[in-house]
Amino acid sequence: MAEQVHSAPPQVAAPVDLHFTPPISREDACHWIHASDNELPHLLAAAREARDCFKPSVITYSRKVFIPLTNLCRDYCGYCAFRRNPGQPGARTMTPYEVLDVARAGEKLGCTEALFSLGDKPELIFPEMRETLRRLGFRSTLHYLEAMCELVLRETSLLPHPNPGLMSAEWISRLAAVSPSMGLMLETTNDSLLVPGAAHDNAPDKVPAKRLRTIEEAGKQGVPFTTGILIGIGESPEDRVDALLAIRDLHERYGHIQEVIIQNFRSKRDILMHSWPEPSRGEMLRTIAVARLLMPNVNLQAPPNLSDPDYEELLDAGINDWGGLSPLTPDFINPERPWPHLHELEKRTNAKGFQLRQRLPVYPEFLHRAMHSASLLEARLNSVAGLEGYARSAA
Ligand code: SF4
Repeated sequence: MAEQVHSAPPQVAAPVDLHFTPPISREDACHWIHASDNELPHLLAAAREARDCFKPSVITYSRKVFIPLTNLCRDYCGYCAFRRNPGQPGARTMTPYEVLDVARAGEKLGCTEALFSLGDKPELIFPEMRETLRRLGFRSTLHYLEAMCELVLRETSLLPHPNPGLMSAEWISRLAAVSPSMGLMLETTNDSLLVPGAAHDNAPDKVPAKRLRTIEEAGKQGVPFTTGILIGIGESPEDRVDALLAIRDLHERYGHIQEVIIQNFRSKRDILMHSWPEPSRGEMLRTIAVARLLMPNVNLQAPPNLSDPDYEELLDAGINDWGGLSPLTPDFINPERPWPHLHELEKRTNAKGFQLRQRLPVYPEFLHRAMHSASLLEARLNSVAGLEGYARSAA
């Protein structure tokens, strides 16, 4: 499935202008996302050059624990194997003790990030979740999340990074007081994926305009923000370009996008889209390279476990980050795709000529933005960040 991107030079000259001056235009991006096999090496070389101008020689990752606070969710995304209804096998809301147990175990293994992933507002449709929250003493899932972020921040050296779905201005502000960064995948700007039978059918929180509003509000508040696109869920290559441009536009206005993730859809047995084709490695490489050329100075991440076994090829397309990897917890979103062992990841990263460094959930250049808020957060950041802004324990 993987294409050989370095093995052979193109046999014929590419018929288009090969002088890339990033950031490229929509027109160029729409051309290059369809790059022919002959053009592909040129596209990848330009993306690598842009990455190397932005961040030469270092590829980062975040050592994390994955905390699936609740897998109940009011949305029914067609590709999701994480969500459950109450009473379904595997349905689970973690207790504060469980949260702390996982965080403390991760701390012993050198983790610096507590990634909170959870379903979006399950209490709005499930009385069972309202009852669970009542027993725990909280009015909503977001109130509970806020308390758990604070608990982890107070009791461990881990930094929370919440991904709770759509957030209001008030909730962005409240969560920013207990976490140095947060995230929401834009996924796509294509509204037609909301129609019956499409990936976002019956997923009210996946309306692109609503997600853009959340990302914009984080920008207005100066919160370091992670977002990205999900490819292969029914969108066209041009849709990918438009979603990347929407992210670029927000970043140009607010400067708060610390990282853009390019995530590829992987099929699973138990999802609504189980017979949907996966995007090819070539599509992934073209999308990453175009993203790099659209946003030459933005951190670009692709998860290695979703591109096994030859994930190191993603470096050829211009990423500079592997995202969060855990030595302790599985990828609860893609449990069938274990993260690579850190030694193996380092070996392959080194073989491509890079040093692998452990970053915090907030990137070094965004650290100062997270320092303004609550004193507990600032104190924790000061204790875990080294001089260059990477994890203090990093080599
Ligand atoms: S992808 Fe997120 S919002 Fe969609 S169903 Fe899964 S948990 Fe819910």
